[in-house]
Amino acid sequence: MKKLSLILALLSVRLFAADELPAPELTEYYTPVPPVVASPPGAVPSDAIVLFDGTNLDAWEPARADGHPWKIEDGAMVVIPTPAPAKPCDQQTKRAFGDIQLHIEFRTPAKVEGKGQGRGNSGVYFMGLYEIQILDSWENPTYVNGQAASIYKQTPPLVNASRPPGEWQSYDVVFIAPRFAADGTLSSPARMTAFHNGVLVQHDTVLTGPTEYRGQPKYKAHAAKLPILLQDHRNPTAFRNIWVRELALP
Ligand code: MG
Repeated sequence: MKKLSLILALLSVRLFAADELPAPELTEYYTPVPPVVASPPGAVPSDAIVLFDGTNLDAWEPARADGHPWKIEDGAMVVIPTPAPAKPCDQQTKRAFGDIQLHIEFRTPAKVEGKGQGRGNSGVYFMGLYEIQILDSWENPTYVNGQAASIYKQTPPLVNASRPPGEWQSYDVVFIAPRFAADGTLSSPARMTAFHNGVLVQHDTVLTGPTEYRGQPKYKAHAAKLPILLQDHRNPTAFRNIWVRELALP
């Protein structure tokens, strides 16, 4: 279509002399037309899949069979922290996703307890494997590749855009899933661009593999789409206004 448009443009304009600039039409094309997405103020984009609107947890399930759902409190989805030593209970979407744009709002507890990784820790795991860290990183030093908006244990955020504990914050993330060849080898790694409270924190960052707490990450072939997971890190972190747009990239 692009080629056809260019040929039509060529036919419709006069040929230019060698000393003239090419006609502007030669670099303009009209198809395919981008689909219209309505984006009214204060509402989610019309092609978004809403994962949490404050009313129910229908899009979510405990990430392990013997787990419990989290709770809804004042329109927020709140972690019910699992006390140690019991295994934490993450929540995952019932639906699976590959390349997406995600919007999520979160609030770390107003009452500051613990320090470092113990303050308001949670995380968004794309495909259940690749974490962008959620942490109360307001005047709370920790290893930089583990602070808020880091790609956990891989890449620190470009800046610390954290708000004080107890305030709502947002992540807007473009996650590009890794691709694997038929023989299971990696064709292209996962990539992430993220904004924290509207501030760029990850720019097309290449992920070196799934999130690992110990040792180096290593890619292992997996499905093209997998659930998004929210982490129970034993802190009562809250979430609201969660939506995704599935991306069909050229
Ligand atoms: Mg975490």
